[in-house]
Amino acid sequence: MNPLKEPHQAEARNKEKRPQEDSLKLKHNDATRKSEDRRLCAQPPVQRISLPETISEDRKYSIYLTNKKWLSGTVLHYAFVEHPTLWSWEESQKKIIRHAFETWKAIGIGLSFEETDDLHEAEIKIGFEPGSSWSYVGTDCLHNSDLGRTMNFGWDLRSDWGGATALHEIGHALGFEHEHQNPDSGISWNVPAVMAYYRGYPNYWDDQTIERNILSKIVSGKKRGSKWDPTSNLHYPQLPGHLLGPPPYDVEGIGENLALSQQDKLSALEMYPPVGHPRSIQVMRLEPLPTEAGSQTSFSFSPKATRKYRIQTVGSSDSRLVIFEERDGQPRHHSSADDSGRPENAMLETKLIAGRTYIIGVRTNYASSADGVGLLIS
Ligand SMILES: [Zn+2]
Repeated sequence: MNPLKEPHQAEARNKEKRPQEDSLKLKHNDATRKSEDRRLCAQPPVQRISLPETISEDRKYSIYLTNKKWLSGTVLHYAFVEHPTLWSWEESQKKIIRHAFETWKAIGIGLSFEETDDLHEAEIKIGFEPGSSWSYVGTDCLHNSDLGRTMNFGWDLRSDWGGATALHEIGHALGFEHEHQNPDSGISWNVPAVMAYYRGYPNYWDDQTIERNILSKIVSGKKRGSKWDPTSNLHYPQLPGHLLGPPPYDVEGIGENLALSQQDKLSALEMYPPVGHPRSIQVMRLEPLPTEAGSQTSFSFSPKATRKYRIQTVGSSDSRLVIFEERDGQPRHHSSADDSGRPENAMLETKLIAGRTYIIGVRTNYASSADGVGLLIS
């Protein structure tokens, strides 16, 4: 799969198709005039979690909310990937991305970011092929890549719009989806106008890309109970006439959201609260876990023997379970399991080495057991 092929192919097909602005009866103002020339993030196709119809709406919502989110406390390593022919990085571009990581971190979230040259250690691998900007969403970065990248920047970042693009793609890498695809938005699209515009200059998208990035609804995994946020950095600017409603956006359009909105920050803090010091866990001793959806706990485990261990949740729950190995004072991703939407419990069977320290993180995505849930190592 090469998502970057799509815009190029679409470009060839649509070169002559730029819609006439008059025919769309657009009412321009200063806030939206620039937006006509903006190229926008084009997300690649990915598999979405499919849940059985039989499970409750509350459980479904909790799973969608936490699906693809990292565990708080994770150190995410990012690397700038080079390519022999298609792109090369300049320091001035890297600087914008480093600053964007710092901006997300400055919210006070429980994730940390560290640049590395070691591609094997990097969960987020960043390319710079001209054309399209995109990123896999959250933990999808662990299982997907294209030409060695999990994220790409397709245009010069040394501008306000470039800085906003860096924040936006990192937002995807943290597990957040497009806000204009929020099912609660109440947006009614002027589909012919949207299709005509995005097929042409400056994006040249094919219809699947338009559907995937604009028209389809995605549960965004934001703060529970939060409303549609047209000021989100993960919301595309919209030209007047592209929305039929709600007012006043049908007439005024939606401007460029260059910074993180208040709700972007609150959602990130709720999903990634600062984590406390991990508490110690011993073999064959059941540790109770909080049952509140989204709650996280981390344990420190120092095996006395080198052998295969089974680490599992106990009690009826959907959980994400992650083992980190401490190396050079830093937790490195070792292995993970997620049983969300399935009847069994989250479980990892893996060899752990005596004398090393492992951090075991658990997030309860949803718990339905009246007797509580716990974590057991055997
Ligand atoms: Zn995007």
